[in-house]
Amino acid sequence: MTLDIKSQTLEELQRQFGEWQQPGYRAAQLLDWIYTRRVGDWDEMTNLPKNLREKLRAEYSFQSMDLAQVQGSRDSTRKFLWRLSDHSLVECVLIPANPAFYGETSDRHTLCVSTQVGCAYGCKFCASGLDGFKRNLRVEEIVGQVLTTERWLAQEAKKEAEKPATEPPEPPQEAAVVSGGAESRLINNLVIMGMGEPLANYENLLKALKILNAPWGAKIGARKITISTSGLAPQIRKLADEPYQFRLAVSLHAATNAIRDKIMPVNRKYPVHELTAACDYYQERKGRMITLEYILIAGINDAMDQIKPLARIAHRLHAKVNLIAYNPVEGLPWNRPTDVLQDAFASGLEKEQVTVTLRREKGGDIDAACGQLRLKTEQAEKNR
Ligand code: SAH
Ligand code: SF4
Repeated sequence: MTLDIKSQTLEELQRQFGEWQQPGYRAAQLLDWIYTRRVGDWDEMTNLPKNLREKLRAEYSFQSMDLAQVQGSRDSTRKFLWRLSDHSLVECVLIPANPAFYGETSDRHTLCVSTQVGCAYGCKFCASGLDGFKRNLRVEEIVGQVLTTERWLAQEAKKEAEKPATEPPEPPQEAAVVSGGAESRLINNLVIMGMGEPLANYENLLKALKILNAPWGAKIGARKITISTSGLAPQIRKLADEPYQFRLAVSLHAATNAIRDKIMPVNRKYPVHELTAACDYYQERKGRMITLEYILIAGINDAMDQIKPLARIAHRLHAKVNLIAYNPVEGLPWNRPTDVLQDAFASGLEKEQVTVTLRREKGGDIDAACGQLRLKTEQAEKNR
């Protein structure tokens, strides 16, 4: 299979260029075209000699994703459905740091990225696992979600900037970023909370994040990248040994095995004590970089007797707890508890001196399937 150019690191390209007797700086020029100028075609790389462009075209693919659908909400949160070369669909959610209300511009964005088509982990409450697992995303498909969304953003900003002036004049959204030149980024934060279990696609994820983090790549700070996992303990330890300060979000959703076993099959493989031991290790290596995610599901994990064990885990890991009201999924019998009960659960944790945030769905017009992504992403953004 042909390698895609977006799966290649600077070192790999320099090695290849060396074999072609091309000067090493050409590799940096090429990467600059992809990650800073965000071009989508070889012919746009005008400072590369034509014969080199032809060689690259013959040797590598440079695939883009087709936009199958974009759903926007009034507060500018948008869900993208990208179609991959094998026609699989993956979704991304784009969230502005400051919603672009009238009179403001939004120049910072978080993107929620998918890592697999479907998911094999089958958590009982989750829409992503409903259709089972199809395949891992390749490096270029993970990197491509960021690049293609940025290209979309830049185009939107251009359209906005070209609009004839109206009365009163609307500020051009994101125009400042676009004209900010080479160093500006349209996406500043990543949350790996889309479809799939990121740590089950470990090698591709890590290489993609290396490219997205690198100074020669997309330049997104490691501390601005949050990886969410359902609790693959060995991979959490492995991640702790990597030279990156990624943030970790652990989808705990129950503080005892009795309950976690019922809603997350992964718990039978890596029960709570094994998961928390792996988190201990991550926390020791990386500092305070763990968040515990806890969806409140009515009658399942929202009883007050979960508070003390949850608080114990949070204290031990110096972790904060994100409470999320369950977002009902069509076809599943689960529901969120009442607001009163959600508040009681949150204040119960606060009484135990746990740092806690409670998030309810804001509404909006993106359909419910992605509501979970949006909620989680907004939280990760807030917790920064
Ligand atoms: N597989 C990873 C990352 C993707 S899921 C993980 O499980 O962490 C991202 C988050 O959305 C997880 O915390 C997951 O438990 C949560 N989630 C799944 N379905 C949800 C729903 N219907 N409502 C709210 N959150 C949900
Ligand atoms: Fe997979 Fe995460 Fe959904 Fe569980 S919650 S089924 S691990 S995507």
